Amino acid sequence: MKIGLLKEHHFDEKRVALIPANVTRLMKKNIAIMVESSAGVHAGFIDKDYQDAGASIHDRQTILAQADIIVLVNAKGAQLDELKSQLNEKQLLIGMMDPLAHPEHAQTLASIGVSGIALEMVPRITRAQSMDVLSSMATIAGYKAVLLAAYRAPRLFPMMMTAAGTLKPSRALIMGVGVAGLQACATAKRLGAVVEAYDIRPAAREQIISVGAKPVELDLETENTETKGGYATEQSDDFLKRQQQAMANVLAQQDIIITTAAIPGRTAPILITKEMVDSMKNGSIIVDLAAETGGNCELTELNKEVLHKGVTIIGPSNIASTAATHASQMFGTNIEHLLNLLLDKEGVLTLDIEDEIVRDTLVAHQGEIISPRLRDVLK
Ligand code: NAD
Repeated sequence: MKIGLLKEHHFDEKRVALIPANVTRLMKKNIAIMVESSAGVHAGFIDKDYQDAGASIHDRQTILAQADIIVLVNAKGAQLDELKSQLNEKQLLIGMMDPLAHPEHAQTLASIGVSGIALEMVPRITRAQSMDVLSSMATIAGYKAVLLAAYRAPRLFPMMMTAAGTLKPSRALIMGVGVAGLQACATAKRLGAVVEAYDIRPAAREQIISVGAKPVELDLETENTETKGGYATEQSDDFLKRQQQAMANVLAQQDIIITTAAIPGRTAPILITKEMVDSMKNGSIIVDLAAETGGNCELTELNKEVLHKGVTIIGPSNIASTAATHASQMFGTNIEHLLNLLLDKEGVLTLDIEDEIVRDTLVAHQGEIISPRLRDVLK
């Protein structure tokens, strides 16, 4: 069995899908690992590190021609377009494919008979936690979003009592407290801000308190905040309007706002309207982690900083890539665990669709779409 690790081609992508430590551990199976030259260089891993771990270094064409399993971070968009003419039906492609928003990627693979595992589809069950790249990347995004806000803010986060007077701590509000939001709460707290947080899921309340932040209590009734699979459900326009009204006063008191509310495969809900930004303090900062799916703030522009009446709104994309070494370490370990599930001790690949993790993540196999969640989207 040969596993091929490809270099990412997007200019903005510094992560790599496996790091040398993953290679060392995977090599205990009867497999060979082929690494595209300089695949890990932006994440801090040079070819020699991979060779020392037991991998061999090749050009892209050799890997695409010989590898049985091909792994990369982004198996979508232009990168997938480039790969599709070079893959064959015996190969398995593993990477992020954004299948719920872009089912055409999985359909492309099915149409050419290539098997595809979309990492976004890892189910939220205990056994799959170690394979969950979305959670890994969200952890990094939540942490980095706070640092980005701290860097751009005209105020410091902690209270300081100095000979030149007392500085009040910054007030931070985190909206959407999933994995990224919880990490943002913890990071803002560690930096010394006074942190409040809000989520529609009642279960988030305890988690907010557990990291030392204060839950924002809104008198809003809502049911069905979470799907069976643990994902947030889309709320009605009426609910979002009532939420915006109830939040306006809370927002006006903040220096820093981090928004993370996302609905898989859907446009992000608007939590902050232009009018709400109008009422915010001069110098306050919004970092919108949902920018890639439209943004939680009406004024967000992807990969831009918008200045509106003294408020800066930052809409970063692929923020995990800015911490490429640790992001790759987490990403690689998630893939290593997935490969351990797919390969037996002798390195033989079995795609057992009776296994929930395989069934949910296998978006394309033998010309068919397998993943039930994706099949539902395509109905
Ligand atoms: P996410 O990225 O899908 O969304 C971020 C948060 O935004 C969610 O908490 C969601 O409830 C919230 N949100 C959505 N609409 C909102 C609105 N209108 N107003 C305010 N908040 C809104 O979330 P996530 O990181 O995937 O985490 C969601 C939950 O799933 C968390 O409790 C997390 O711990 C859990 N989780 C479990 C597993 C597992 O069991 N393996 C893995 C990942 C996440």
